[in-house]
Amino acid sequence: MKFNKHLEDITTYEAGKPIELVVREFGIDPKDIVKLASNENPHGCSPKVKEAVGAILSKMALYPDDSMIKLKDALSARYEVANENLIIGSGSDQVIEFAIHAKASATSKILINSVTFAMYEIYAKHIGAEVIRTASRHHNLNEFYALYLEQKPSMIFLCTPNNPTGDAIDRNALYDFLRKIDKDTLVVVDCAYMEYAIGKDAAKKVEPKDLITEFENVLYLGTFSKAYGLGGMRVGYGIANPKIIKELYKLRPPFNITTLSLEAATVALSDEAFVRHCIADNFVEMKRYEEFANSKKIDIIKSYTNFVTLCLNDTQSSTKISNELLQKGMIVRNLSSYNMNAIRVTVGTTEQNSRFFELLAELI
Ligand SMILES: *Cc1c(COP(=O)(O)O)cnc(C)c1O
Repeated sequence: MKFNKHLEDITTYEAGKPIELVVREFGIDPKDIVKLASNENPHGCSPKVKEAVGAILSKMALYPDDSMIKLKDALSARYEVANENLIIGSGSDQVIEFAIHAKASATSKILINSVTFAMYEIYAKHIGAEVIRTASRHHNLNEFYALYLEQKPSMIFLCTPNNPTGDAIDRNALYDFLRKIDKDTLVVVDCAYMEYAIGKDAAKKVEPKDLITEFENVLYLGTFSKAYGLGGMRVGYGIANPKIIKELYKLRPPFNITTLSLEAATVALSDEAFVRHCIADNFVEMKRYEEFANSKKIDIIKSYTNFVTLCLNDTQSSTKISNELLQKGMIVRNLSSYNMNAIRVTVGTTEQNSRFFELLAELI
């Protein structure tokens, strides 16, 4: 059977290995497995969320509120934007999909960073768009601008902080760059880890309100999967000029967010203290990674997120090391598919991190 030819050279997205599969493949007791592979919040979500979700279980027979009014009100209050500036996706992944399908086609070019979130390329390939990459590992906006002039992409993706490297773009540099881009180019600014970046360095803070007030061609993305501890609920959002949002809505399937997810995200947003505590803890624990890496002479990329990227030297293979860690129940992300001899490790709880240091020290 022949399939859509655009799909031929897509490599399926490789998610962090689920705990369930490690149990099955290696016969390891689930309580001995530590997953530091998908940048989830090791502290989970606010206890208020669990209570609220429990209380609405009786509503499961009814379709969700497709206007998503409570969550939109909560997001618009938080970010000082209007409801018509918002679209909610089943993860911000889904908003990326909408954006690419709305703006690009088989004759379009999409400009992305050399090493960045894999879904930009996968969705671009769905529609047969050509992906152009910069050469530098970290976002180099001069290089982006030169490629923009030369290639005339219809879309540009900036990921700040970037996954899987953890670096972030300075807000002033971002704004200067955006001022040079014509209004028919859609620029997506993916801020999945922005809560962490703000907790580390105010110069990295990107406010959706300022962005969309100045730029009618920019789409800001946020998610509940990382700092808010709701990866399992699949809720993300896009914030942009209503003209962009209106087009994205044409691609949205009805009821794309479940009742439980809507409730969880709404309540999670109301407990700022919980998230602040998690972010503070993240950077305390990250210091331990930096000290560990320094003591073992491993390069660690300065990170504005809840993960660290450890660049191994030539005598150590990231594929081998991540497999060996896996056999001991420690799940991390091998970055060999990004052409990096590196592993990406989510900053976990104190105990999880200690376990990681202990296991890696045995292997190197
Ligand atoms: C995790 C992540 C997302 C999307 O997460 P969802 O769970 O789909 O909301 C988007 N962009 C980046 C860079 C991410 O790391």
